[in-house]
Amino acid sequence: MKLYNTLSRTVEEFVPREEGKVAMYTCGPTVYHFAHIGNLRSYIMEDVLEKTLRFLNYDVKRVMNITDVGHLSSDADTGEDKMLKGAKREKKTVMEIAKFYTDAFFSDCAKLNIKTPDVVEPATNCIAEFINMISVLLEKGYAYIAGENVYFDTSKLEDYYVFSNQSEKELMVGVRDDVQEDTNKRNKSDFVLWFTKSKFDDQELKWDSPWGYGYPGWHIECSCISMKHLGEYMDIHCGGVDNIFPHHTNEIAQSESYVGHKWCNYWFHVHHLIDKNGKMSKSKGEFLTVSLLEEKGYLPLAYRMFCLQSHYRKPLEFSFEVLDNVTVAYEKLVKRIAELADEGEVDKEAFAKYHQMFADALADDVNTSMALTVVYDMLKAPISDKTKRALAEEFDKVLALDLLTAAENFKQEAAVDAELEAYILAKIEERKAAKKAKDFALADSIRDELAGKGIVLEDTREGVKWHLA
Ligand code: AMP
Ligand code: ZN
Repeated sequence: MKLYNTLSRTVEEFVPREEGKVAMYTCGPTVYHFAHIGNLRSYIMEDVLEKTLRFLNYDVKRVMNITDVGHLSSDADTGEDKMLKGAKREKKTVMEIAKFYTDAFFSDCAKLNIKTPDVVEPATNCIAEFINMISVLLEKGYAYIAGENVYFDTSKLEDYYVFSNQSEKELMVGVRDDVQEDTNKRNKSDFVLWFTKSKFDDQELKWDSPWGYGYPGWHIECSCISMKHLGEYMDIHCGGVDNIFPHHTNEIAQSESYVGHKWCNYWFHVHHLIDKNGKMSKSKGEFLTVSLLEEKGYLPLAYRMFCLQSHYRKPLEFSFEVLDNVTVAYEKLVKRIAELADEGEVDKEAFAKYHQMFADALADDVNTSMALTVVYDMLKAPISDKTKRALAEEFDKVLALDLLTAAENFKQEAAVDAELEAYILAKIEERKAAKKAKDFALADSIRDELAGKGIVLEDTREGVKWHLA
């Protein structure tokens, strides 16, 4: 498996620490609002990565947090707490907001066939772990207390800006000399581990700690929650590209200072879904959700296919025109699979050949558009229908487009349509015969019977036509 690693800025051969096993972590949603379809692009592509690893026979353990405290409006520790903002907007408590939007998130994920990670842990469950890690960081001299908050001291690290190349680093160091918005910080890039004092003293959720009554910073939660379930090492850490700095940079700073060795080997970042006005974001007011797509008549899985058609390392521009085209393509694909005969033998050689082509596409840095091309090539190939069905079923373990069940539903709907048509045509014939026999009462009763079922008859010069009311 080859994977682009943001840490080395190259496509690398993926080698997990333990043979055949993958420890994987995903930054979960901040549950103060619905996820927009941009957020869900990241979760879809991370789901594809997990399913690819499983397809390639890795034993994956995947952990995800739920951010229900500490994520301020700006990732650089300024601005209002997002959860509090949500609670005020809806006149509910923070925990009510967290519960509602966590459920909404998983309901969206289910519609998009995104598997729930093996472990899902809300940040508010892990206060003791946060306090422990912060205490160790203070003991080791990586953290300091100022203005009653605890900060991570980034100047203690040889290389804080791990994701940046040399010229970016120089630029970022320059930023450190800028006017500081938080005068407690020793260095511009230092970040909060624990707040007891902030501009937002109406913060609803607070806990006792050795440094006073307060709440954790956002970054600490991912370090602690991943270590709680995966231990001191991790193979792959995922998120959207906006997480690279400062969130993931800070996660690495505190995690590696805490454990004293390299923490995570591969960093997988999904590029943004954009619209013609730029990046999609929740703070922009109106934003696109899965429910909104459904209200407009789109299938959530058509959106999944939309995402699969492009590479996760490219920004993807959303438009309804493209989603319309993908919807047509999805329906055609389902129809094509519905037409495959479910009899005969699976040609083992052909199965192995296409299975390998599909696996190769995905093993090439999760090349989903190439994997979809293999699906179409396989459907066109001179191999038995039974083999094609078996391959479609196998490929759907990763694509998760419900190809077989959608094909089955399509067949059933088509059968119902055919049955209905046969019934209507028989009734039209009966009515014709009644009219011919001058039994107009019977003819009218047949028309009424059909009308009662929502079927409208029209007598035209070309004969009787019907349509649904
Ligand atoms: P949040 O709920 O804001 O913490 O974000 C959840 C996930 O969505 C994070 O991994 C973000 O990096 C990711 N994300 C945010 N905006 C976008 C976008 N426009 N396209 C793709 N992913 C995004
Ligand atoms: Zn995180």
